[in-house]
Amino acid sequence: MEARHLDADVIVVGGGPGGASAAIACATRGLKVCLLERSRKAEERPGETLHPGVEPLLSQLGVGDRLESVVGARHPGIWVDWGKQRRFVAFGGDAVGPWSGYQVRRAEFDALLLARAAEVGVVIKRPCAVTGVCPSDGRRHGVLTSAGPLTARMLVDATGRARALCRMRGLACPAYSSRLVANYGYVGGSCPVRDDAPALVGDAFGWTWTAMVRPGLYQWTRLSFSGPIDPYWMPEEFQGLPILRRTRGVDVSWRMPSRVAHDGWFLVGDAAATLDPASSHGVLRSIMSGMMAGHLIGAVLAGTAPESEAARAYHDWVAQWFQADLARMKTFYADLGVSVLAGPDSAHE
Ligand SMILES: Cc1cc2nc3c(=O)[nH]c(=O)nc-3n(C[C@H](O)[C@H](O)[C@H](O)COP(=O)(O)OP(=O)(O)OC[C@H]3O[C@@H](n4cnc5c(N)ncnc54)[C@H](O)[C@@H]3O)c2cc1C
Repeated sequence: MEARHLDADVIVVGGGPGGASAAIACATRGLKVCLLERSRKAEERPGETLHPGVEPLLSQLGVGDRLESVVGARHPGIWVDWGKQRRFVAFGGDAVGPWSGYQVRRAEFDALLLARAAEVGVVIKRPCAVTGVCPSDGRRHGVLTSAGPLTARMLVDATGRARALCRMRGLACPAYSSRLVANYGYVGGSCPVRDDAPALVGDAFGWTWTAMVRPGLYQWTRLSFSGPIDPYWMPEEFQGLPILRRTRGVDVSWRMPSRVAHDGWFLVGDAAATLDPASSHGVLRSIMSGMMAGHLIGAVLAGTAPESEAARAYHDWVAQWFQADLARMKTFYADLGVSVLAGPDSAHE
């Protein structure tokens, strides 16, 4: 390891919602945190629809009162047409009234969380890509970055589906589904039928998600069970609207690494567990896992929890939640008459 000192208590790699939440949770526990993000500035990315359950978490992170500044639209639920009847699934409500979900502009949402991280003392280095991991001496854990080597007492892999540290450490990350690719794109203009709430529509060949991100901007996602889609494919309701960004495809196969915490590192967000977007709540899960990892790392570094126990508790918590989601997704797809599970026996690489 080239660096001889500790650069931070915790190095968080990745500045999405998972990484920012972990960084804020660690910094507010008095830890010195350094967050490394490879992109120069926050980028637009899918994941704009947030469940109302995100609200109390964002308040705990200290940005609850700023959320409205990045919200493009609100909606009381989702239209679902899933092999049966088309129905409206409301988020629920309480004595105050019905709950509303959020459509956020992701670049601004991610920037909001990172601004909060900086406010609580997190040192943010960007653009700064992690390119390798250094052998650990048991007390210090290091990464190689585009800005040189850095060391800390704990590493957090929050690199999303890239799982950069997980891969660099050679950790197994089995798939629990067949290969699933979500294609997504954006159109402009006006589509009044989509302005009240997003819609999820399943058919024999896949499913389509359509949503208004903000007035004048609509997003669609198509997951096809039968291989790649036509690059010019477009949901019927958006036909004729101006295409704002080219269609992209992302591997969203269900995956969870064999260990999500161990010996000086934690994985959070999509790096810890990925499901396809029909499961919804990816951002909510990323924030929750970031906050949970931050809480446990705080306890370990304060000497109030043994590291091995904290790592095991975190792994079990993620695994339990992933298994529950897997069961839910299996039933969800069975209702459509399809199975997207990995091979007959178990998970595969
Ligand atoms: C098509 C699609 C639609 C979706 N729709 C929704 C939705 O409506 N609602 C929802 O809640 N979720 C949705 N999701 C899921 C959601 O986008 C993710 O769950 C969420 O973004 C995960 O957050 P994260 O912080 O774990 O990772 P990310 O948001 O992926 O952030 C990871 C960060 O790590 C950085 N990084 C990667 N490698 C390195 C490296 N080597 N060095 C430094 N930095 C690195 C990246 O630049 C990135 O900023 C959708 C996903 C897809 C693909």
